Amino acid sequence: MAFSTDDTIVAIATPEGRGGLGVVRLSGTAAPAIACALIGRDRPLEARHATFARVVDAAAAAGRRAVDQVVVTWFAAPQSYTGEDVVEISGHGSPVLLREIVRRALAAGARLAEPGEFTLRAYLNGRIDLVQAEAVADLVDAVTPLQARAAMDQLEGTLTTTIRRIGASLFDLAARLEASLDFPEEGFHFATRDEVRRDLDRVIEALAALGAEGRRGRLVREGRMVVLTGPPNAGKSSLFNALAGAARAIVHDEPGTTRDLLTETIDLDGVPITLVDTAGLRDARDVVEAEGVARARQAREVAALTVLVLDASRPAGDETRRLIDELRAPAMIALNKIDLGSRLRVPDDERFSFVETSALASWGAEPLRVAILEALGAGAADRDTPAIGNIRHLHLVGEARAALGRARESLGAGATEELVLTEITSARLALEEITGQRAPEDLLHHIFSRFCVGK
Ligand code: GDP
Repeated sequence: MAFSTDDTIVAIATPEGRGGLGVVRLSGTAAPAIACALIGRDRPLEARHATFARVVDAAAAAGRRAVDQVVVTWFAAPQSYTGEDVVEISGHGSPVLLREIVRRALAAGARLAEPGEFTLRAYLNGRIDLVQAEAVADLVDAVTPLQARAAMDQLEGTLTTTIRRIGASLFDLAARLEASLDFPEEGFHFATRDEVRRDLDRVIEALAALGAEGRRGRLVREGRMVVLTGPPNAGKSSLFNALAGAARAIVHDEPGTTRDLLTETIDLDGVPITLVDTAGLRDARDVVEAEGVARARQAREVAALTVLVLDASRPAGDETRRLIDELRAPAMIALNKIDLGSRLRVPDDERFSFVETSALASWGAEPLRVAILEALGAGAADRDTPAIGNIRHLHLVGEARAALGRARESLGAGATEELVLTEITSARLALEEITGQRAPEDLLHHIFSRFCVGK
């Protein structure tokens, strides 16, 4: 299905529910005319002026009865978010009123926007590239300040610039190799093999650096789930509370399996960590508890890390030994209640790291916090805002790097310019798919369908 861009779309741009203000957004050639029809205005709007007006019910028996008092702003094409004529109608933040304004816009000839369609149009009209469009979705979805900063950098074009710079180096290299092709008898005429090798190495290094940054970038962007497990009374809930209390809790609607478990998403140094406390879910006496146990197990399976909390002040019993045996990496063992002494002897198992904690001491959760971040690969060394974290981008960076690696190898084996060029072309295509200079339609559908309506 091709995207239709010649009609005018409308949607509520503010969240569902009540608020001080609510915004209805229109984009397309007919947007100013539709807005004028809604407010019963026979003169054109003034571009970039906030106009106080009333949305009126022209058909009302009593004459022009006001539906809402609004402020209308027309962003004339191409200086707008989408690059088209955009009108924002800012009304009172009541779902009833906002829906009524949308209904009237539809009656006046607009079409209801699909999720992300405003941003899609911005992309199709060349206002932003695909990386920036994805940054808009990430920005809206951000739950930690670091996530918001990373998305904002991306929207401002930092990643775009890096990718374009790498693309330009490859373009230049390809051009020199192609020129050499015109003088076949000379071979590598406009660029010696050594120069090509050096240029390839430089680009491969830049791509490798991006890839390395992506590890932390993905952590920050996606967040991770960490499950606390262990025998009753070891201090799981206390540690959970200490961790959650020390960190800034995030109010977050987390869809999925963990709803019925005690979960909290917290901001650990910018990484959103969904902590799952499986306390009280162990002795399944009835169906509800059995379901709880099943969910706890499920959470452990999808978790990035399991923390087995043990009471360090008591010698290990059979159950403790069984829990350690059953523990599967990636996992760590928290030796809790260390303030009461250290009588628990645990086998030295290199699959797991150990951390001593005391949920009741003021310092007690800090070692666990640090250990969790380290285990997830977000150690204290790297505090910068990650430049890349979207798995789609990282996958394509990997593809480009692999193609250039092959080019480098074939060069060493005495390959022709054509062979080297083929691989450079593959790398360039991968980079162009990141920024969307080349983007298949199904990819666009996939990306924009996860946006919210009105964005
Ligand atoms: P859970 O069943 O594993 O969730 O354990 P709780 O968090 O409910 O803790 C069980 C008991 O141990 C409570 O009375 C806590 O106050 C106590 N407790 C938990 N952690 C510590 C600790 O680090 N030191 C000491 N001294 N007591 C603790």
